Amino acid sequence: MHLRLTDEQKMVQQTIRKFVEKELMPLENDVLRNEREGKPSLPPGKLKELQLKAKEAGFWGINTPEEYGGANLGQMMMAIVLMEVAKTFVPFSFGGSADNILYYGNEEQKKKYLIPTINGEKKSCFAMTEPGAGSDTRNIKMIAVKDGNEWVLNGEKTFITGGNEADFVMAMAITDKELHQKSRGREGVTCFIVDRDMGWKSEFIHTMGEWGPAGLVFDDVRVPEENILGELHKGYNLGLEWIGFARWVVGARAVGTAERLLQMAIDYSKERVTFGKPIAERQAIQWMIADSAVEIEAAKWLVLNAAWTLDNGEDNRHLASMAKLYGANMGNRVVDRVMQIHGGMGYTKELPIERWYREARLWRIYDGTDEIQRMIISRNLLKGHVKIDQYV
Ligand SMILES: Cc1cc2nc3c(=O)[nH]c(=O)nc-3n(C[C@H](O)[C@H](O)[C@H](O)COP(=O)(O)OP(=O)(O)OC[C@H]3O[C@@H](n4cnc5c(N)ncnc54)[C@H](O)[C@@H]3O)c2cc1C
Repeated sequence: MHLRLTDEQKMVQQTIRKFVEKELMPLENDVLRNEREGKPSLPPGKLKELQLKAKEAGFWGINTPEEYGGANLGQMMMAIVLMEVAKTFVPFSFGGSADNILYYGNEEQKKKYLIPTINGEKKSCFAMTEPGAGSDTRNIKMIAVKDGNEWVLNGEKTFITGGNEADFVMAMAITDKELHQKSRGREGVTCFIVDRDMGWKSEFIHTMGEWGPAGLVFDDVRVPEENILGELHKGYNLGLEWIGFARWVVGARAVGTAERLLQMAIDYSKERVTFGKPIAERQAIQWMIADSAVEIEAAKWLVLNAAWTLDNGEDNRHLASMAKLYGANMGNRVVDRVMQIHGGMGYTKELPIERWYREARLWRIYDGTDEIQRMIISRNLLKGHVKIDQYV
């Protein structure tokens, strides 16, 4: 058992860290200003320029299989990269994640949808949630009816990340009502790849974050048979399996952000003087710093364990739920303490803390709420699917 990064992992970590510090962090003030003025966080031209730089540096598609032009470095490397990128709020990803549900597609679908997505030429989104079905995804109502070689989709989706910008959506719809009812929602649902020009509409949803998801409306949208992703009637399990393996990603983001925030708090506490002494010399402040450091470290090990377990061909879903639940809550506690340490300044828009404070709240809601993660973890233990000391 090796509890340190390998030389290769360390090299990737340092290179990404430099990229984030040199290319992304200097844009933070622009991002804050753009958002304050209601403009896109980054102009599209700037995003393209950054993508090009990442590609030139060989850091595009870190987790993408080689046959699709990626480096295939695995989940651990992805975790390392995600934690580094989350140290800034400048919206950027290194593209081509193998977490993409499109890997379940056939060769034709991979050529038409997956590869352009990896290359940053097309944008996708994934739509399971509906106004009447969030945690309870078995209760979706969107319906697809076969008509010749096409399926006709009707219904609504809500809170879809990337839904305003996406060129296509992977949408879940009921394709066999009887089977859906009989299997209590587990079967009779199919995942469709639906291009925007097939006719679905999106509407921006305003949230407390700096970006908004979309509501999607499908009104007699006709989708060709060949756009079924995976097997007919088996979309529900496909979606849940994919989400279940990848949930730790939220924990990884929380770790990176919390590390940056804690560093800000440490620096500020040494400079800020009250009653004749830097606040860093007060036990109240020291304890907030210590508690944050311990929790970040604990969340990091959960994240790395979930990523390592999947890289090693084991089912990581229990650990992924733990990393998501603990990471998301840790992130919220840390950003709250860091705001407290900064006093009134922490609450202003001069500093990015209040932005992260708002963003962090989402971590506890999407990709399965805190309560749903607790349900999964306790069910695994109560039913004996996982033992308490299963992993180490
Ligand atoms: C910004 C944002 C982006 C999102 N992106 C996407 C996306 O890209 N694609 C997508 O499909 N969805 C997306 N979602 C939807 C997200 O996954 C759901 O909001 C989430 O799963 C919760 O569903 P809900 O909002 O319907 O809450 P509900 O399911 O109505 O839950 C309400 C409350 O009840 C609790 N609860 C529910 N059932 C139980 C239970 N059995 N026991 C105890 N407590 C329970 C919940 O934990 C929650 O606290 C996004 C949401 C947001 C806010």
